[in-house]
Amino acid sequence: MSDLAKNSNLHIDGAALWADLMETAQFGGTEKGGVRRLTLTKEDKLVRDWFMRTCQSLGCEVSYDSMGNLFARRPGQDNNLPPITMGSHLDTQPTGGKFDGILGVLGGLAVLRTLHQSGYATRHPIELISWTNEEGSRFSPPMMCSGVFAGIFTEAEVLEKRDRAGIRFGDELDAIGYRGEEVCGQHPISAYFELHIEQGPILEAEDKTIGIVTGIQGARWYEVTVRGKDAHAGSTPMTLRHDALVATAGMIEAVSKVAKAHGPSAVGTVGLIENRPNSSNVVPGEVFFTVDIRDPDDAVVLRMEKELKTLMEKIALDNQVTVEIVQIWDAPAVHFDPACIGMVEQTTQEKGYSARRIVSGPGHDAGYLAHVAPTAMIFVPCKDGLSHNEEESILEGDAEKGANVLLGAILKADTELNLK
Ligand SMILES: [Zn+2]
Repeated sequence: MSDLAKNSNLHIDGAALWADLMETAQFGGTEKGGVRRLTLTKEDKLVRDWFMRTCQSLGCEVSYDSMGNLFARRPGQDNNLPPITMGSHLDTQPTGGKFDGILGVLGGLAVLRTLHQSGYATRHPIELISWTNEEGSRFSPPMMCSGVFAGIFTEAEVLEKRDRAGIRFGDELDAIGYRGEEVCGQHPISAYFELHIEQGPILEAEDKTIGIVTGIQGARWYEVTVRGKDAHAGSTPMTLRHDALVATAGMIEAVSKVAKAHGPSAVGTVGLIENRPNSSNVVPGEVFFTVDIRDPDDAVVLRMEKELKTLMEKIALDNQVTVEIVQIWDAPAVHFDPACIGMVEQTTQEKGYSARRIVSGPGHDAGYLAHVAPTAMIFVPCKDGLSHNEEESILEGDAEKGANVLLGAILKADTELNLK
């Protein structure tokens, strides 16, 4: 039988994948059944050691680059070809779950296991990557080391990042022994596929097993300071107030209204607010808050920004206060590679899995990888759309199906890419 005919018979060992998910959940496992595995801590080292050992036992060569990104390489027939890659992250939020990121790494491991046990020979080397510090919880920003890999951040700036205790990223990377010789980013790849939980409610609500992810929506963040005047709550008439909080209330409502007006895909959030002096008998003199707006279409994000600025300035004027709006983050929308999206979609059809195209709300390592290689993502549902939560949960069958789609997409990429 030719390898091509044989590859449709290959499938993931779902029980082994689930066992891996449960085993790694012990590294930083919490009482509530979640995982606390912050970047470059001893729990992070433990799961890395496990990853290296397990990949070696499946016949892979393992290595790590100067940012501590882990690579497990299964050689192909033509090792001059850049590898077809897959991956995600093994770090978690402080009260995270067992699946966010981890499913993508262990799903990739399940692909390697299938290839190893069947003795299937790919043309390209196949590599599994675990990216350092996707969550950005201990060291900000998120997706830090896939960002260095893709040339978004420099290695020097990332090494200097400090956690809230003042501990340097570079020192912690040395301390756990995972700073490699290979310069981060000096690692050509042919394609990248990432399996991930949806972290939202859409697949579950529509009773679909697979999300064929076409891209990641664009996002902009702002810091807003509204300045009025502190005054006595008893003696200052309403007409003479410069109440920063009343003005802010109108602005928060405006964020919600503008997002709804651009619905259903647009979202707008005020999630952090500081009221000063925050005293019950003082008219608030200053308020600081953040705004997060997102949409799959960058033009919509831009329109929302314009409308919001106009509205906020008018609200400030009406309330005799001033408003200062500073943009602190701009992440343009990511559009994944049509050919790679097609490989994912075709696999779902061949397997007979229910599926829909979907745009990711959260950012992912794949968003940065799309800058340097053809990229696509695969989503599986998570219960109640819950993520970044110790109760995060998925179905064993969905994990297996998601990894089967990853396997199918990798094998398609292997036969379809880099043809002479
Ligand atoms: Zn993640």
